[in-house]
Amino acid sequence: GGADLECEMLVLGAGPGGYSAAFRAADLGMKTVLVERYATLGGVCLNVGCIPSKALLHVAAVTDAAKDMADHGIAFGKPKIDLDKLRGWKEKVVGKLTGGLAGMAKARKVQTLRGVGTFLDPHHLEVALTSGDGREPTGEKQVVKFDKCIIAAGSQSVKLPFIPDDPRVVDSTGALELTTIPKRMLVIGGGIIGLEMATVYSSLGTRIDVVEMLDGLMTGADRDLVKVWEKVNTPRFDKVMLKTRTTAVKAQKNGLKVSFEGDNAPAEPQLYDMILQSVGRSPNGNKIAAENAGVAVDERGFIATDKQMRTNVGHIFAIGDIIGQPMLAHKAVHEAHVAAEAAAGLKSFFDARQIPSVAYTDPEVAWAGKTETECKAEGIKYGKAVFPWAASGRAIANGRDEGFTKLLFDEQTHRIIGGAIVGTQAGDLISELCLAIEMGCDPVDIGKTIHPHPTLGESVGMAAELFEGVCTDLP
Ligand code: FAD
Repeated sequence: GGADLECEMLVLGAGPGGYSAAFRAADLGMKTVLVERYATLGGVCLNVGCIPSKALLHVAAVTDAAKDMADHGIAFGKPKIDLDKLRGWKEKVVGKLTGGLAGMAKARKVQTLRGVGTFLDPHHLEVALTSGDGREPTGEKQVVKFDKCIIAAGSQSVKLPFIPDDPRVVDSTGALELTTIPKRMLVIGGGIIGLEMATVYSSLGTRIDVVEMLDGLMTGADRDLVKVWEKVNTPRFDKVMLKTRTTAVKAQKNGLKVSFEGDNAPAEPQLYDMILQSVGRSPNGNKIAAENAGVAVDERGFIATDKQMRTNVGHIFAIGDIIGQPMLAHKAVHEAHVAAEAAAGLKSFFDARQIPSVAYTDPEVAWAGKTETECKAEGIKYGKAVFPWAASGRAIANGRDEGFTKLLFDEQTHRIIGGAIVGTQAGDLISELCLAIEMGCDPVDIGKTIHPHPTLGESVGMAAELFEGVCTDLP
């Protein structure tokens, strides 16, 4: 049949993967159409993920810091929370960024099409147009014919089957809506997203329990980092129940009654005003009729790609959360550029030595490259240098010297293969390690680089100097 629209590049989904791919494709001269069911560009990350969570975490951090000032001689009054204003500010932050994206799309002549896309065949996508704030179908349909396609349809949060449909049960999107500040909240799942939202709500005054099936929180990070985070956060939480599962949730008038099972389960069911489900995200691969295009999707909904982000169908690429872990915006963006460049005929490959992870909690926990746990599992012989922030002038001056900076070096080559930081601003500080790992730096490169004093960043250079050999390896 005919098509309403034709393009060289079709991008499905306008999250960080999708908009980055569309912009790069357009910059490389391809006529590009970007299909997105939501009213705004930016996907999960800008609308209901990275950005709104950080807007709220910023407020939480400042609120907590103000409280801490009493110890340093400046006492503030009890915070007065204007929830509407706080929500408004968060929405303003998101609006600024999504609006900016719309402008960038326009400037590049990327045509955006608002609707839900499903494949008809390897060169046609049907788009059921949507309108309004959400994704209400208008009943209208358009068919787009494309030469090449990048699938960037992302992921959505997993729902536990036994939890009732109740407005008091939310996922991260619901928690970010910030409709109320509950008295008691249960966070199911002790991963990064759950702990970030727990940080926000606890700073606003909510008492929080965390339940996690595994035997640790933030399981991707080395335990030494998490230990520091736990020590600082003990007063923040009522109970952190590891190796424990939620077995039943009963919606009652006076709250949500939750039963637990496992090593740290309370004997009695507990009553909460709100439950946050943060037990992971599942890819949207099974919702786009990929089979009509011949694109293979596994049983969980992931799409496999090669190093150029090509699926099993040569002219169709896939990027971002839909192709696998780690589900992170910066990974999606990097893959987006590879895919768009490869589609334009350039020899681009995904060949990253490291993808950083950051928990924007308080303190922040950040790691890049190999972790110690991975080194041990893979039999990699490594040397380690750890600089405790208790010896950092700046950390002490900030009243936040609980952190440390850790570097991991390959024992044979002495090149840095990984590193991690726990402490305030760790997420910003980790970038130096990312660059060092990509560049294959050794301890001398890092330790002999003059860092500004007194900064937290200095701790990276100081850690490197602690590594055996830096002071004696001089030519
Ligand atoms: P998505 O952002 O999921 O975008 C996919 C888009 O495709 C969506 O807009 C969706 O509406 C659209 N779509 C899907 N199917 C269709 C269809 N059939 N038709 C039309 N449109 C469709 N990552 C970080 O790196 N740092 C963080 O600090 C961070 N914080 C987070 C906090 C929270 C609360 C959450 C939930 C996630 C966070 N993430 C963070 C993860 C990050 O949001 C994702 O990794 C990132 O958004 C993935 O980008 P993507 O382009 O693959 O997909």
